[in-house]
Amino acid sequence: MSVSEKDILIIGAGILGLSSAWYLAERGARVTVLDREPIKDAASCGNAGLISLGHPPLTRPGVSVQGLKWMFDKRSPLYIKPRLDGDLARWLWTFHRHCNQTHYEGTMEVLCELGRLSADCFEQILSETEIDCDWQRQGWDDVCMHESSLDHAEEEAKILKRFGFDSERVTGDELRADAPAYTDDVVGAIRFEDSATLSPQAFTAGLARELQARGVTIRTDCTVEALLKRHDRVEGVRLEGGEELTADATVLAAGVWSDKLARAIGLRIPMQPARGYHRDVVGLETMPPRGCVLNETFIAVSPFHDTLRLAGTLELSGFDAPWLGDRLAHLTKAGGTYIHGVDRATVTQEWAGYRPCTADGMPVVGAVPRMPGLFVGTGHAMMGMTLGPASGKLIAEAIYDETPALESPLLAAARY
Ligand SMILES: Cc1cc2nc3c(=O)[nH]c(=O)nc-3n(C[C@H](O)[C@H](O)[C@H](O)COP(=O)(O)OP(=O)(O)OC[C@H]3O[C@@H](n4cnc5c(N)ncnc54)[C@H](O)[C@@H]3O)c2cc1C
Repeated sequence: MSVSEKDILIIGAGILGLSSAWYLAERGARVTVLDREPIKDAASCGNAGLISLGHPPLTRPGVSVQGLKWMFDKRSPLYIKPRLDGDLARWLWTFHRHCNQTHYEGTMEVLCELGRLSADCFEQILSETEIDCDWQRQGWDDVCMHESSLDHAEEEAKILKRFGFDSERVTGDELRADAPAYTDDVVGAIRFEDSATLSPQAFTAGLARELQARGVTIRTDCTVEALLKRHDRVEGVRLEGGEELTADATVLAAGVWSDKLARAIGLRIPMQPARGYHRDVVGLETMPPRGCVLNETFIAVSPFHDTLRLAGTLELSGFDAPWLGDRLAHLTKAGGTYIHGVDRATVTQEWAGYRPCTADGMPVVGAVPRMPGLFVGTGHAMMGMTLGPASGKLIAEAIYDETPALESPLLAAARY
């Protein structure tokens, strides 16, 4: 068998699974992607679409303490449903231990490099395909209501400068001259010039179509029940209904559900499902010209053609808890204080989905030690749309034993 003839199974048709498929197909692999759902409801379709290079991890110094305070504020971006849950308690404790400066500095170095690689991956994929996803490489604005927030955002932006990502401070008037959409309450913004926005649904579905045109098989309505492990080797998967599929390599890219499949064969990838919501609105007189984050609320906003998407909230309630209507409503209510008319605009879509969050804030990418045949791509939390293509490339490089474009113990499955 020549190296290019590998048979690969990928569990999950989100951005991680599809990006891995792209780079594997590029190497001549025979790839089958399996997903239990059509490509439209996963986090990879419902996210805010900010391709935010140099986005910091959740594990920032002070965040765990701030999070405790937020728990008692109904409008805060974080909600933790109080419950007796050993996994959650362990996750929170590990998370707290990683919210320190040393870990932060180490993670930023890796995430910035991964972000840069991902930007190249997006440019490559878009130049080689016909995907129409409203890709706009014109940065995003961290939009502030208070001078103190603006000063703080500027300090944070200086950290990114060290890693080669430029930003500039713009006043409220400069912002409004460029974008009359912003209200007079906005005092200014930090503009991150290297980043981009896209319609995540259009990119993900478009990538799936392009892969199929290149011979990749995508099976939806196809639930993987278990990974097949014989002795130490992972040889494929068993589907619901009993069908078994074997492969030279299996990629576990099932988002936050990867943990459950991994546990059954003795691999731990502890994650919490961090639910977020989006609301799409239409009918605004003026739109922000580029993506933005409404600084004091952590709401991410992206313009896609005539639609404005507002996305936010990080809710640790486990799976399938009822939607929190007040948090969903808060997206447009708070949005209207920054952007004219958002609170009165017509809502065309509401959605909730899960970010796969590891307790150390870092993705898990690459080969699994002592389990030949198994590769993982998950745990990208709030950065998966941004970093997914680069992680997919690293997974393909690992499967083909190539020198990786980026290697770090902070990404390795071996850390668990
Ligand atoms: C509100 C919100 C806003 C966000 N905004 C941004 C943003 O602006 N920028 C950014 O970079 N990131 C953002 N993110 C994060 C990003 O969406 C995720 O990190 C990313 O989509 C995760 O991709 P994934 O492929 O790992 O998982 P998913 O997209 O969840 O895909 C996993 C797939 O696996 C399938 N699956 C699971 N179990 C099985 C099984 N047993 N058998 C078969 N299939 C299975 C699922 O059906 C799913 O399709 C946001 C997330 C949310 C919730």
